Amino acid sequence: MSVRRELHTPSRTIMTPGPVEADPRVLRVMGTPVVGQFDPAFTNIMNETMAMLRELFQTENRWAYPIDGTSRAGIEAVLASVIEPGDSVLIPIYGRFGLLLTEIAERYGAKVLTMECEWGKVFDPEDIIQEIQQARPKIVAMVHGETSTGRIHPLREIGEACQAYDALFIVDAVATVGGCEIKVDDWKIDAAIGGTQKCLSVPSGMAPITYNDRVADIIAKRKKVERGIATQADSTRLSGNRPIISNYFDLSQLEDYWSERRLNHHTEATSMLYALREGVRLVLEEGLEERFERHRVHEQALQTGIKGMGLELFGDESCKMPVVTCVQIPEGIDGESVRNMLLTQFGIEIASSFGPLAGKIWRIGTMGYSCRKENVLFVLAGLEAVLLRHGAAIEAGKALQEVLHFYEETETKAVL
Ligand SMILES: *Cc1c(COP(=O)(O)O)cnc(C)c1O
Repeated sequence: MSVRRELHTPSRTIMTPGPVEADPRVLRVMGTPVVGQFDPAFTNIMNETMAMLRELFQTENRWAYPIDGTSRAGIEAVLASVIEPGDSVLIPIYGRFGLLLTEIAERYGAKVLTMECEWGKVFDPEDIIQEIQQARPKIVAMVHGETSTGRIHPLREIGEACQAYDALFIVDAVATVGGCEIKVDDWKIDAAIGGTQKCLSVPSGMAPITYNDRVADIIAKRKKVERGIATQADSTRLSGNRPIISNYFDLSQLEDYWSERRLNHHTEATSMLYALREGVRLVLEEGLEERFERHRVHEQALQTGIKGMGLELFGDESCKMPVVTCVQIPEGIDGESVRNMLLTQFGIEIASSFGPLAGKIWRIGTMGYSCRKENVLFVLAGLEAVLLRHGAAIEAGKALQEVLHFYEETETKAVL
């Protein structure tokens, strides 16, 4: 095989919790010619994207813009700009991405206090609130939709408690934004980080973030005045006084770039910004409520099929994430062999999981552009065929008939 051969990628049906299939309209705008980053034509696209991101996050925040880098770049930018060494950060962990928050917060010198619950469940918000009352952390950071376990966490009460006890509430909404309801202002979230390659159906490589004035005030106080002189600290508890350690993730510099000042920081990732703008535009064109409903309908269809095959879902049903369905790998079946056959024979990708769940569950995503009827039917048909091939005791064809029936019923109710 010659490397000089033109790039070729296979055709795939991606039913993982990300990256998912990019919307063809997103891929199309990525081929749009590059314009300079200070060209008014481009700064106008920046402004349009910020305005649409506010709608996406359901916020009036002044600051809503993307960080160049994958989703964790957005998480790191927010944490790096807010955490000063010695700050206390409470992190309730219910899966892998809570561990990521911990790891990043610790690197920036935070005194991290964690709470943990069994993977597959979420916390009783009251337990978290009690911990906030007792520990009085400066920051509470947690994940909204934990893709590793397929659980979604209620946030509203925690946001209210954070405000009452003067803590900042930082939320990883990477996997939920554009697929599940997330109301930044209403739920009193001080900073939220979204992802592109999950429910927005944009390739990986950018992380939209938003934050309010409580966060912006800290950032402003940590700003280096021109070259290297820190501003005076003031006496309020949430004030910052030490300059932000990172250059790339210094949100005060990024504000200067994304505001009318247009001060140079990095070179904006032109084609990714086109892609993000189109991805968010498509979400808003579909309508937030309509889009969340579409995700719920296909989730229902997928669950009908999984149960119809006699497979069991993993995790507490009451906090199931609508865009990720976790399935227990049946006794005696090699989960990796099934995934492999799905990929090689059908071109379908589903995911395994991490840590305590490795080898125990498959995770099937229904996110963004991947969340379509033909994809749901195809993954179920493929899974059934492959499981039969692996000797599973399944009544062939029954599940798919039930799913077709479900779709017919739903379509007559004119939901789709
Ligand atoms: C995917 C994911 C991330 C990490 O995203 P990267 O783009 O890989 O950096 C963080 N948090 C959650 C909840 C995710 O699902």
